[in-house]
Amino acid sequence: MPQHLSVVVPLFDEDEVLPLLVRRLRAVLDRLDLTYEVVAVDDGSADQTPVLLQRYRREWSQLRVLRLRANAGHQAAISAGLAAARGDWVVTLDADLQDPPEVIEQMVHEARSQEVDVVYGVRSDRSSDSWFKRSSARAFYATLRAAGARDVPDDAGDYRLMSRATVDAVGALPEAHRVLRLVVPSLGFPSATVTYRREPRAAGRSKYPLSRMVRLSLDAFTGFSLAPLRLATWFGLGGFVGALLLLAYALVSKWLGFTVAGWTSTVVVVAGMGALQLLCLGVLGEYVGRIYATLQGRPTYYVAYDSAGDDSALEGEHIPRERPHQ
Ligand code: UDP
Ligand code: MG
Repeated sequence: MPQHLSVVVPLFDEDEVLPLLVRRLRAVLDRLDLTYEVVAVDDGSADQTPVLLQRYRREWSQLRVLRLRANAGHQAAISAGLAAARGDWVVTLDADLQDPPEVIEQMVHEARSQEVDVVYGVRSDRSSDSWFKRSSARAFYATLRAAGARDVPDDAGDYRLMSRATVDAVGALPEAHRVLRLVVPSLGFPSATVTYRREPRAAGRSKYPLSRMVRLSLDAFTGFSLAPLRLATWFGLGGFVGALLLLAYALVSKWLGFTVAGWTSTVVVVAGMGALQLLCLGVLGEYVGRIYATLQGRPTYYVAYDSAGDDSALEGEHIPRERPHQ
C-alpha cells in the first residue's frame, strides 16, 4: 500500500496567503497516517514568498522548496512540481486556500478504499468566484465539449490526487503546453470524486488576468479539439455555394440587361470574405504555433533551486540569487 504523499503547491507572489496556507495545510497533513512532503513551487515570485518559504522550512522539515528561475505560469509550475514529487500519491493544490486543504484527507481515503488512480476535487459551489469567471468557464467547457473534446469534466479544476502511475503517464507526454485539468481526465484512468465548497481567496490578489485565461483557453482548445481547423473547410464550402448562387444571379441579370453597379454587395462580400480568411488563418496559426513549440522542445520552466538537493540552505536565511526576469 502506498505510503508517501507529495503535495504540490504553485506559488506566485503569495506572501500574504502563505502563513495561512502553512498553518492549515500542516495541521491536515500531520494528522494523516502517512509520510509526506510539500513541494512548494515558487514560480519566480518577486515578493517575500521565497524568504518566507525558507523560514518555514527550518521548522517544517517536510516542506521542500522548488524555485523556478522565472515566472513560468500556473500550469508549468504544477508540471515542475509533479516532475520533482517523489510521493506514491501526489495532490496538486492552489496556494490561495480557495480549495480547502482539509479535503486531502477525504481524497486519500477515497484513493485507498476505491483503489483508483485519480481523485478529482469537484467544486459543488462556485459562488465565491466572480460571475464573469463562472459563466466564462461554463461556456468555455461546453464549447470544448461541443467541439468534440472527450472527457471534459463539468467543473474542471486543478485540485486532485493522482497515483504515481498517473503522474508518470502525464510526465511522459510530449506536449509542451499541457492543460493538466484536461490531460489527466483524457488518460481515462480509474477515478473517483470528492465534492467541496470553493471558498473565496484567503488573501492576496488573483494571479490570473484575462490575458492568461485566454492563453489557457487557447492551449486547451488546440490541445483537445481539431474542430476549429475544420471550420475553414465549412466556411470554404459555404462560400462556394454562395459563389454559385451569385454567379447564377449575375448571369440572369446580364441576360435581362439589368446590370446596375452594386457597390454595397461588393463591399459586403469583400469585407466578409476578408474577415473569414483572416479568422481561418488565425486558427491555422494557433495550431502551427503549437506544433512549432512542441518541435522546438523548449522546457516550459527552469528550476533554479531545489531544497531537497541543497541542505546548506538550511543555515541562515537563504535567498536565492536568481531574480525573475520581468
Ligand atoms: N500561480 C503560479 N504562477 C502564475 C500564476 C499563478 O504559480 O503565473 C499560482 C498562484 O500562486 C496560485 C495558483 O497558481 O497558487 C492559482 O492562481 P490564482 O488563485 O491567482 O488563480 P484564480 O484562482 O484566480 O484562477
Ligand atoms: Mg485562486
